[in-house]
Amino acid sequence: MSNARSPTVALYTLGCRLNQYETEAIREQFQARGYRVVPFGERADVYVVNTCTVTGQADYQSRQTLRRAIRRAPDATVVATGCYAQTNPQALLRIEGVDLVLGNAEKGRLVEYVTEATSASRPAVHVTPRAALTQFDDRLDVHEFEGRTRASLKIQDGCDQFCTFCIIPWARGRYRSRPLEQLVGQTERLLVAGYHEIVLTGVHLGAYGIDLIPPRSLIEAVRALLRLPDLPRLRLSSIWPTAVSDEMIQLMADTAPRFCRYVHLALQSGDDDILRRMRRTYTADDARRVVERLAETIPDVGMGADVMVGFPGETDRQFLNTYRMLETLPISYLHVFSYSKREGTKAASFPDQVPVTVAQERNAQLRQLSAAQSLAFHRRFIGRRVDALVEERRDPATGQLVGLTDHFVRVRLPGDDRLMNTIVTVRVDRADEEGVQGASVPAESG
Ligand code: SF4
Repeated sequence: MSNARSPTVALYTLGCRLNQYETEAIREQFQARGYRVVPFGERADVYVVNTCTVTGQADYQSRQTLRRAIRRAPDATVVATGCYAQTNPQALLRIEGVDLVLGNAEKGRLVEYVTEATSASRPAVHVTPRAALTQFDDRLDVHEFEGRTRASLKIQDGCDQFCTFCIIPWARGRYRSRPLEQLVGQTERLLVAGYHEIVLTGVHLGAYGIDLIPPRSLIEAVRALLRLPDLPRLRLSSIWPTAVSDEMIQLMADTAPRFCRYVHLALQSGDDDILRRMRRTYTADDARRVVERLAETIPDVGMGADVMVGFPGETDRQFLNTYRMLETLPISYLHVFSYSKREGTKAASFPDQVPVTVAQERNAQLRQLSAAQSLAFHRRFIGRRVDALVEERRDPATGQLVGLTDHFVRVRLPGDDRLMNTIVTVRVDRADEEGVQGASVPAESG
């Protein structure tokens, strides 16, 4: 397929994992039409920028990336899609040289828009409004992931939660879920393609199924997938504490390690007033109880949390509430980010925006805490055996193989390429903040 006369396409993604997933789907669509994919830094016939609008900075970077493509190849077809294109298409259309502005729902037939566009029809905007974004789009399926070890499976899109800091409900439309049967079918295909781990993703994973008729739930989806005998591992991506029910915890305990012992909580804060003003529907105590229940029920469960610092009005005391809560809970990994004002959201108009330097200081404190808690968690595995799914890449610094346990602990080990994409047992002899190290041993040895 890759001959010199094939048309070429270069793709660039800004923002979240879902956007990355959808860029992969778009890449596959171009390849299926005979396009050759080239790096974004090279000349191409078509450039696709999958934009993000989660912060003002993301908007800026999206515009800059488009301008870079236009400068590199002024005759190329330049396409802007993604969340910025969805929420503010006119801003992108104003950039001279942008040919097509396509909303998130238009990603499924992006290649058609490109091939059908004529010089007379450009520039053009095609954006389905939020209210009409009601169907889960399975044209955006991805069949091949880098490394062919772990596959993300998008099962839910859109959000109706409207947290006060978040623009995503505007950008990604209403709750919509992938029907259960389709999700089982797609998982079966990924297993046949050789993947060993399926990671369920969504904008608001816990809302899976509430829009389906009849309604479904995330736990039903998990149970249906665990019934597939050939599925070695199933993992959840980030989830609200409220979605981690006792039933879910028990299911994880009963079916681990197939249902991976790792929960990444979209926690955001440990202060009730901040949570309320964020429009989250749980309290710090609710989240604490979930973490404690997980730790009691599932030995060695890995836990992570997204935490936001510097939300408007966050006082030192409120930050301390978050810090103290996290310090006392067995959460091993924190994904810390600083609040960033986003026009079009409610929180943008809240008084007492926190100075950047204060947010940075809080951010640094939580990162330090995260490093210490990661190290403590990883150390508990020293002298023990863990099972790691070895990826199809090596650690660039050491050349060692890299794997992942079901509790989401990185494992580095020596070994040859034949171990890639298999689950190996490793006796752990060292631990650091990044993960653990050891050597592979036969699975049944003591
Ligand atoms: S749940 Fe809240 S933070 Fe998550 S996408 Fe929806 S509005 Fe944004």
